[in-house]
Amino acid sequence: MKTAQEYIESMRRMRFHLYMFGEKIADHVDHPMIRPAMNCVAATYELAEEASYPQYRELMTATSHLTGKRINRFTHIHQSTEDLVSKSKMGRILGAHTGSCFQRCVGMDALNALSMVTHDIDEKHGTGYNKRFLEYLRYVQDEDLVCNGAMTDSKGDRSRHPADQADPDQYLHVVGEKPGGIIVRGCKMHQTGAVNSHEVICMPTRAMREEDKDYAVSFALPGDTEGIIYIYGRQPCDTRKTESPGLDTGNILYGGQECMVVFDDLFVPWERVFMYREHEFAGDLVEKFAAYHRQSYACKSGMGDVLIGASQLIGEYQGTAKASHIREKIVDMIHLNETMMSCSLACAYEGKRQPSGTFFVDALRANVSKLNVTRFPYDIARLAQDIAGGIIATLPSEQDLRHSDIGRHVARYLKGVDGVEVEDRIRILRLIENLTMGAGAACYLAESMHGAGSPMAQRIMIARQTDVEGMKASAKRLCGIEPG
Ligand code: SF4
Ligand code: FE
Repeated sequence: MKTAQEYIESMRRMRFHLYMFGEKIADHVDHPMIRPAMNCVAATYELAEEASYPQYRELMTATSHLTGKRINRFTHIHQSTEDLVSKSKMGRILGAHTGSCFQRCVGMDALNALSMVTHDIDEKHGTGYNKRFLEYLRYVQDEDLVCNGAMTDSKGDRSRHPADQADPDQYLHVVGEKPGGIIVRGCKMHQTGAVNSHEVICMPTRAMREEDKDYAVSFALPGDTEGIIYIYGRQPCDTRKTESPGLDTGNILYGGQECMVVFDDLFVPWERVFMYREHEFAGDLVEKFAAYHRQSYACKSGMGDVLIGASQLIGEYQGTAKASHIREKIVDMIHLNETMMSCSLACAYEGKRQPSGTFFVDALRANVSKLNVTRFPYDIARLAQDIAGGIIATLPSEQDLRHSDIGRHVARYLKGVDGVEVEDRIRILRLIENLTMGAGAACYLAESMHGAGSPMAQRIMIARQTDVEGMKASAKRLCGIEPG
């Protein structure tokens, strides 16, 4: 396994075609806007280092079913319900450790979904995708790589199918074959951790019809392959990372990252192609990936841990912590946070072995889990802002606090209870701001709403997975309505 430091060094060797604020970025590793996000992914390596974190060995690592070697859990194919449970717990621990999106789940979820769907395609079509995929997986495990699981297309006119778009490139598709592989073109949106990843794994974004079969394609490539262009996404307050990174960012260590990723006539060798025009499996791959990724949102309970802790602290720093309504709000936050976590654990405990041997989460509970996540972080954030007070929206800057003339006024009038440093009060307020309306809110709120699919996608899956007929039969029997 790589150490966190080795991971950072491996990123230095990547030659991404990356743009931010209209400029090409050469040294992305040391860029102040990017480094906190890279530190976040580095934490997925750091917590797996047994010498530093022996308590996390079982959660952060697993035994490869291919090689028998100890590997990072983010590269593991789940072999039991215990593996699935460990995955949920790992997400919470990393969410609490970083207070951010640590970005590596998308690759893990793509690998696990492909381990099942490549097997199922082979069963039907006699293809050799699963063997090819397992060779790729062995490479990912041996090198301890980060994979960017890329699903969401730009989608153009949402009322039209992929093949019916005015611009045929609004969904990533195959545009031709060359000796040894295929040519692809299109764009994947909102790609979490895109330029913190060694590899990119593309998958279709929706179910496909026969007419859409050029869009039913899945493949993997090194992230810095010629022809892949990354355009860095903005977040609220993002330039604070350059203006006053030590205080006003709120989270001074970590952050998230999303990019628009353009695939500009890219060659993919056959050995990296895992689905090619088998359109009837596109929807299945989407549902499998989505269910795994909806489980992964245990990360938000970890971020919730940070926000609850920050809210309790600001109550203590401002002298409100003992008020009964503040205590009640803290308990309400804990209740919401644990409800999210309970669902992620439930879908893991109810997971079952699939024909490929991979363990898959219970899809109904995975979707219930994520539907909770589209709401509860907003409720928790609301309570945190309530407890913090209006000061989270009006705090002067770090520069004013440190100013030779006016700094004393800032320090004096921001004083809370005796014995608490003014700067500590500001730090906690900035952290609450970060998570509820700053850069961290991109992860904690908007990503909770739309990541792994927007709420309606979960409602559709919940309706499909539930035996409402069985429920009707129970109701009829109890009140004496004749069956049939
Ligand atoms: Fe993982 Fe959560 Fe980030 Fe998604 S939002 S990649 S589940 S940490
Ligand atoms: Fe995401």
